[in-house]
Amino acid sequence: MMAMLWCGLVAAAQTATAQTGVVAHRGLWQAPASAQNSITALALADRAECYGSEFDVWLTADSALVVNHDASFGGLPMETSTLAALQQLSLPNGERMPSLENYLTAAASTSTRLILELKHHSTAERETAAVQRIVAMAERFGLSDRMEYISFSLHACREFVRLAPAGTPVMYLHGDLSPAELHAMGITGIDYHHSVFRAHPEWVEQAHALGMTVNAWTVNDAPTMQYLIALHVDLITTNAPALLQSLLQK
Ligand code: MG
Repeated sequence: MMAMLWCGLVAAAQTATAQTGVVAHRGLWQAPASAQNSITALALADRAECYGSEFDVWLTADSALVVNHDASFGGLPMETSTLAALQQLSLPNGERMPSLENYLTAAASTSTRLILELKHHSTAERETAAVQRIVAMAERFGLSDRMEYISFSLHACREFVRLAPAGTPVMYLHGDLSPAELHAMGITGIDYHHSVFRAHPEWVEQAHALGMTVNAWTVNDAPTMQYLIALHVDLITTNAPALLQSLLQK
């Protein structure tokens, strides 16, 4: 009886701490020797036992995939530069800008979820080409079941739904569509700026009723984290994973 009660308490505690997952925004980069979207940031997010590590991907001029946030870096535009030219660039921590291939090679020795954001590209055709290459590369690396895809581009989200293996999480970032509208397109989650949930707190319950995941970004302060935890969002994307983890452990 005591054993059953104890197991029940442990299970309840685990449920409470597992309630909200921590996603490291551009990896865990606010640490010495790390940098946004670096392989070090991925490794640190994994070591910190984050649910997932988010990163940003562009299709280059020569149809390669590269990991970077902004549309240009060091004066080179992502979409109209070659991978070789972009890989001459150093990140603030001294790493070379990683190709997606470099990134997934490193990811193979981690276990955190890989939250890949495909950036909004100049044409729908380029987004489709990027999605095709990303899905094929994840498959080649044996990482398909660790990938989660996110985008501000509705077209990109719909292409991930069409081309990724069935059941792969695909979440839309823009914040302008209801869970029901996205569910009708096969999109599996809403991943919205935290302010959207102040305006539409009912979207959390609506999404859950449809079996969808709810993620809020990019939340770096304790009061907003607490608000979203109380609202029962599934995931919070943050530049401060340790702060969120400390709140979840209370
Ligand atoms: Mg991003």
